[in-house]
Amino acid sequence: MSSSPHPHSASTKEDNSSTWTNYSSSSSMPLSIDEGDTDLTSSSTPVYYDEATGTFYPTNGIRPMTPSYMRIASQEPVTLKTPQKLLVILDLNGTLFYRSKNNKSNVTARPHLTPFLDFLFANCRVMVWSSAQPHSVKTMLSFGFGDRISKLDRVWSREHFHLPPSDYSKKVLTIKDLEFVWDEIKNENRAAGDPEMYEFEFDQTNTVLIDDSAAKVQLQPHNGLALQDFDKDLASAGTDHELLKVRRYLEKLVYQQNVSAYIRLHPFDSNAPLDKDEAKEVKETKETEGDNAHGKELDDLARRLEKSTV
Ligand SMILES: [Mg+2]
Repeated sequence: MSSSPHPHSASTKEDNSSTWTNYSSSSSMPLSIDEGDTDLTSSSTPVYYDEATGTFYPTNGIRPMTPSYMRIASQEPVTLKTPQKLLVILDLNGTLFYRSKNNKSNVTARPHLTPFLDFLFANCRVMVWSSAQPHSVKTMLSFGFGDRISKLDRVWSREHFHLPPSDYSKKVLTIKDLEFVWDEIKNENRAAGDPEMYEFEFDQTNTVLIDDSAAKVQLQPHNGLALQDFDKDLASAGTDHELLKVRRYLEKLVYQQNVSAYIRLHPFDSNAPLDKDEAKEVKETKETEGDNAHGKELDDLARRLEKSTV
């Protein structure tokens, strides 16, 4: 379990390399504004602060992991003959978009976003959960989702973390506790009073969170796909293929009876090189878009992979 020094921590992340220090937010330490457009409010209460990331520890601590979680995630994966409908929860900034820190209305969509969204809306129940404030969420969605916004199951923002007011406007570690989502859907189904709706309940066997921060999914670590942060450099390079890789991972995942069991054994690997089919798809996409800058490079890669395939 956790080695975090915070008395309330129940983090199960193995990476506890960041150092939480007891830090008074009333000092003048400069902080960057986080993706929630937040301003640091002054407070004389000492709080824990991670200097490496400029992030405060949640005032209320982190709840313990649900006791049954690891037991269910430790089951043997079972492959289904027909796909099941997954609930996919999407982060926005750093995952689907890069938003300029200087000009927040300047948004860059991650490459392969359109086929990625097409796959999701055709096969999954899709919602958004961003730690940004509602107006920023709206900006990013109107930029990149177009008329798909209406197909979203629900859109959650910073308002859905159950943060105390003192944390809402601070750059605080925000954890996407999937229990909040599952409870809300369950309550809606109960309120609808239709027993047939019960089958649409969601839990760790059929829910996936796609986020650029593994820390956000630490309460349900085997339900998260941690993507490389789509930052300024990646946004300007135009060579990022993460969403293509995620889509192909999800194409397999929908055939899993218990996604947490599968993800535990076969986590999404952001660093894995493109496989043969992925390289081919990238090349075709580039050609369609008239972008031949990486054409030769991808050609060579596809040829090499072709030869190495047994
Ligand atoms: Mg993010």
